[in-house]
Amino acid sequence: MNFNLNDEQRQIYEYGGQLAQSYDNVYWRDHAKRGAFPSEMFDKIAKDGFLGIMIPEEYGGSGLGMTEMALFMEGTGNHGIPLLSIVIGPCMSLPQLARNGSDFHKNELLPAACRGDIKFCFAITEAGAGSNSMKMTTMAKQKGNRFSLSGEKTFITAADVSDYCLVVARTSALDKVAKKTDGFTLFAVDLKKKGIEMQRVRISIPLTEEQWTLYFDDVDLGPEDVVGEIDNGFSILFDTLNPERIILAALCCGIGRFALNRGVEYASERNVFGQPIGAHQGVQHPMAKAYTNIEMASLMCRRAAWEFDNGLPSGESSNMAKYAAAEAGIEAVDAALQAHGGSGFTEDTGLYEMYPMVRLLRTAPVNRELCLSYIGQKVMGMPRSY
Ligand SMILES: Cc1cc2nc3c(=O)[nH]c(=O)nc-3n(C[C@H](O)[C@H](O)[C@H](O)COP(=O)(O)OP(=O)(O)OC[C@H]3O[C@@H](n4cnc5c(N)ncnc54)[C@H](O)[C@@H]3O)c2cc1C
Repeated sequence: MNFNLNDEQRQIYEYGGQLAQSYDNVYWRDHAKRGAFPSEMFDKIAKDGFLGIMIPEEYGGSGLGMTEMALFMEGTGNHGIPLLSIVIGPCMSLPQLARNGSDFHKNELLPAACRGDIKFCFAITEAGAGSNSMKMTTMAKQKGNRFSLSGEKTFITAADVSDYCLVVARTSALDKVAKKTDGFTLFAVDLKKKGIEMQRVRISIPLTEEQWTLYFDDVDLGPEDVVGEIDNGFSILFDTLNPERIILAALCCGIGRFALNRGVEYASERNVFGQPIGAHQGVQHPMAKAYTNIEMASLMCRRAAWEFDNGLPSGESSNMAKYAAAEAGIEAVDAALQAHGGSGFTEDTGLYEMYPMVRLLRTAPVNRELCLSYIGQKVMGMPRSY
C-alpha cells in the first residue's frame, strides 16, 4: 500500500523489490531451512544504508523514524524476505542507544552498527518469567560504580551472530522496590565479555536467525554500558517494545501480501472445472477478505508509527496493529495455501514456509492474549485480569 507517502518513503517501501533482484524469497528459504544467517543479504542492506534508518545522521544513520523502518520491513515482507535481525538490532536496540546511550554507545557503537560492522540482539525473556517480565530475576548487582550481571535469558534471536546484546536486567530485586516496574536497568552488553555462555534453543520453524539461551555469570559491566537511568529502565522500555510490535505488524502485512499475490496469480491460471479456480467465490472471497484485513492492519501500523515518531502514546495502536496484522497474516497465508491445493505444500511453490513465521507472530513477541488484554483493560477500561 503506497498511501500518502513522500518520495523517500516510497523508495524505502519499494527497496524490497530491488533487494529481491539479488536476494529473493528462494535465497531466504534456502538459508531459513538451514538456519543459516543470510550474511550477504545483510551486508547488502548495510551497504545500501538501511541499518541506520532510525539513527540520527551524526551517529552514522539516516535520521528517519519508525514510519520508514516499518515501510522498509513491510516492503521486504512484500517480497517474502522476513528478517528478524532487522527487528532486534536496527529497530529495537540501536534507537534506544541513540536516545539514551553513553557517549561510547553513540560515538563508537552506533556508527559501526549502521555500517553493519557490528550487530545487536535484544534480551528480555526469561524462562521463569515468560510474558510477565516483572518476575525476571537476571540481576546486575551494583559494586561501587560497577555491576556484576548474573542470570539467564532465553529465545534470544541471532545471539550467535551478534556482537552486543541490549539486556533488560533488574538492578533492584522485586521485593525491594515500591512499584514492580521500578528497579530495571538496560545494559548494552559486549557478548565477548568473560562470564557469558550460550546454548542453542532448537526451534521447529524455518528462520534465518537461530535462537539462543544466554547465561550470564558475574559479568563485569561499567557505567559506560548502562543505557538510560539506573533502576528506571522501565520508563524507556516501551520505546523499544512498541517499535517491536509495529515492525512485526508491518512484517505480517508484507508476508500476507506476498502470499496473496502468489495466491491470486495461481488462482487466475489454474483451471480444473472449465474455468480458473479464482472465479469460484469459495476461493476468491477468503483471499479478498484476507486482503482487506491486511490493508486495514497496514493502516493501523502507519498510525502507530506516526504516533511513535511524533512522541505521542503509541501503546494502543501498536497493540492493535500487532494483533490485527498477525491475525491477517495468518489468514492471508492460509487462504493463499488453500487456493494452491496440493501444490501449496511443495518446495517449489515456497508458500508453506511463510506460514510458521506469521503463526509465530501471533504468539511472540507479545502474544495475542496480552495485546487483547491491553486493549480491553488499558484502552477500553475493563477490569484487569493480572
Ligand atoms: C522464535 C522466537 C524468537 C524470540 N526472540 C526473542 C528475542 O530476541 N528476545 C527476547 O527477549 N525474547 C524472544 N522471544 C521470546 C518471546 O518474546 C516469548 O516467547 C513471548 O514473550 C511469550 O513468552 P512465553 O513463551 O514465556 O509464554 P508464556 O508467558 O508462558 O505464555 C504462554 C501462553 O499463555 C497465554 N498467556 C500468558 N499470559 C496470559 C494472560 N495474562 N492472559 C491470557 N493469556 C495469557 C498466551 O496465550 C501465551 O502464548 C522469542 C520467542 C520465539 C519463539
